Amino acid sequence: MFPVEKFQGVRTPFYYYDLQLLDETLRQIRSNMTEEMHLHYAVKACVTPKVLSRIAGAGFGADCVSGGEIKAALNAGFPADKIVFAGVGKSDWEIELALNAGIFCFNVESIPELEVIAEIATRMDKTARVAIRINPNVGAHTHANITTGLAENKFGIDMQDMETVINMTRGMRNVRFVGLHFHIGSQILEMDDFRALCVRINELQDRLEASGIRDIKNINVGGGLGIDYQNPNLNPIPDFASYFRTYRDGLKLREGQQLHFELGRAVVGQCGNLVTRVLYIKSNAIKNFCIVDAGMTDLIRPALYDAYHSIENISAPASDETMCYDVVGPICESSDVFVKDYDMQPTHRGDLLVFRSAGAYGEIMASSYNCRQLPMSYTSEDL
Ligand SMILES: *Cc1c(COP(=O)(O)O)cnc(C)c1O
Repeated sequence: MFPVEKFQGVRTPFYYYDLQLLDETLRQIRSNMTEEMHLHYAVKACVTPKVLSRIAGAGFGADCVSGGEIKAALNAGFPADKIVFAGVGKSDWEIELALNAGIFCFNVESIPELEVIAEIATRMDKTARVAIRINPNVGAHTHANITTGLAENKFGIDMQDMETVINMTRGMRNVRFVGLHFHIGSQILEMDDFRALCVRINELQDRLEASGIRDIKNINVGGGLGIDYQNPNLNPIPDFASYFRTYRDGLKLREGQQLHFELGRAVVGQCGNLVTRVLYIKSNAIKNFCIVDAGMTDLIRPALYDAYHSIENISAPASDETMCYDVVGPICESSDVFVKDYDMQPTHRGDLLVFRSAGAYGEIMASSYNCRQLPMSYTSEDL
């Protein structure tokens, strides 16, 4: 499936995006969404221009968490009125940029932030549309560093403060309340976690209605749908049918209410790959180290979250014989290890390895630590 011949002359490491798979993923998302559903791609997962413009071209909106992302989204062709802006620490210049662009809404994460947005909007004589991000205190069965919906996490405003905050927006002339926002975490594969969120939202809506709040136009349930890192070839596209059905069945939307999603990983995770070359095989009494020219500076997920990426040797012939390797990078950090005790066919200096499922939170997290060059990136249209 990889154009190995074309990879030969290309400087490694580099990211390689399969645009056909991306297109098919976008098509399946679209075909499983109903009329009241809107998707805002979570830009932070991957901003590679050709990937971003493809998603914009498919008609989706963007979920941004910084001014830089808003600029990237606008450059890629996302219409301003389909951009949502989240994040616990929005700077004044970012709020100004968003107001000038005329984004769809701010997902507000605290009362002090709401007050600053109101003040800046008044000064600029603009109207800020705001959704309130709620911390639903719903746990997700995922890595502790990527749960976001628990009281101990820094995100959102507590459930019990909702009436107060929504009523605060009524008194602000340049602020318009447009809805509620949630996001419980990432790499979630248990539909029950999303069902639990639906239950919380239903309860909250009932409660708010009872206290006279009836103008909730939009419910934004965030993102978080996971991908199959173990078997990218078996499951190249997440089960969007189950995902959207879970919300369709679980949420009691009110008349005319719109349902918004902010998927990142599920959109781009499987179409991206990191291609690297084996530099050395070094063996000692207990280990075979496969030292490659990509490091944690190119793909930090294993070091940061213990993440697993399946690895394919695309140079060596397929073989029944396997050997066990620790695949490591060249960075001067002990955590610069991609995987330990990994069985692959016998591997040699010069072989090309592919880290699969690296499209989300891969290239975008690259750094130049150790004065390294950032990885290049190509799509299936380039190579
Ligand atoms: C990161 C993030 C997302 C996307 O998460 P995925 O797991 O990539 O789908 C959505 N919404 C918010 C607010 C986020 O911070």
